[in-house]
Amino acid sequence: MTRKTEKPFLEGWFAQGEAGAHLLGSRCTSCGTYYFPRQARFCRNPACAGEQFEEVPLSRRGRLWSYTDACYQPPEPFIAADPYLPFAIAAVELEQEQMIVLGPVVQGVDVAALTVGMPMELVVETLSETATERHLSWKWKPAP
Ligand SMILES: [Zn+2]
Repeated sequence: MTRKTEKPFLEGWFAQGEAGAHLLGSRCTSCGTYYFPRQARFCRNPACAGEQFEEVPLSRRGRLWSYTDACYQPPEPFIAADPYLPFAIAAVELEQEQMIVLGPVVQGVDVAALTVGMPMELVVETLSETATERHLSWKWKPAP
């Protein structure tokens, strides 16, 4: 059996740390505003003239803010499983940054198992695979 090459479907958007998977965001060094995806040119805070950003790992946990069923295949850059399997999409408010980050919900958890306000945690799971590659993505999973 050959081992498939694992690679992120979006390079540099998330990483596996010692404590688990986390998203890679950026923080304005002037006003402290967090961004995901990372911001590198200018701060979008209208009251801030900051142009310097530091890369920061974002909270691994948050609260479910909203969710929906993805019954249709999402557009690029999403790489869907083939054949396409419906899944849930969660919008989670990050614990510390209090910003909303969208992501697919782990396989095996459908919308019936989700409730607004429930704790969620970030994990990395296979999004799709070919004969030789496994594409990894961050996903949201109900947290204990
Ligand atoms: Zn700023």
